[in-house]
Amino acid sequence: MVLFSEDQIQETKMRGRIEVICGSMFSGKTEELIRRLKRAKFARQRVEIFKPAIDTRYSEEDVVSHDSNSISSTPIDSSASILLFTSEIDVVGIDEAQFFDNGLIEVCNQLANNGIRVIIAGLDMDFKGLPFGPIPGLCAIADEVSKVHAICVKCGQLASFSHRTVKSEKQVLLGETEEYEPLCRECYVRARKGDKDNT
Ligand SMILES: [Zn+2]
Repeated sequence: MVLFSEDQIQETKMRGRIEVICGSMFSGKTEELIRRLKRAKFARQRVEIFKPAIDTRYSEEDVVSHDSNSISSTPIDSSASILLFTSEIDVVGIDEAQFFDNGLIEVCNQLANNGIRVIIAGLDMDFKGLPFGPIPGLCAIADEVSKVHAICVKCGQLASFSHRTVKSEKQVLLGETEEYEPLCRECYVRARKGDKDNT
């Protein structure tokens, strides 16, 4: 078996491809996206970064991760707009991709088919543990998927779930440490049961 890993690619010989970095809150998705994009920049690749205009937690212009290791980006309203900004570009980064429309799947396919390397970071599940927006579809068409993990705040195991600690049924709720906690499956199931018993 030949493993096809992001680390084994020569940056400058990169062909069009799709990479997805997904996981729960606090799993380091954005940090990993930034690491890959910075490496591409060092290799003199032309890099462009997009994020949904909805995500304005920090600054309008920057993709900012929780450790404020930032890289500048373009906020956009719909996935189709990405195609308007990507002529003369080698690498496209997309952060918080779960908030985009499902058109993002076809947009990423088009970009990769045109020889562009597309790196997508996003939440794979919402707070209910359900597949989130275009991420599942993007995982299906991706050349490589990296599932990253946080650490369960209850027991220290690897965490795949983002448990919402405030009462709201809205799927799109941008938040920080006060509103979410990363949990492993066992602790998440217990916490969700507790949430329901308390309502
Ligand atoms: Zn746990």
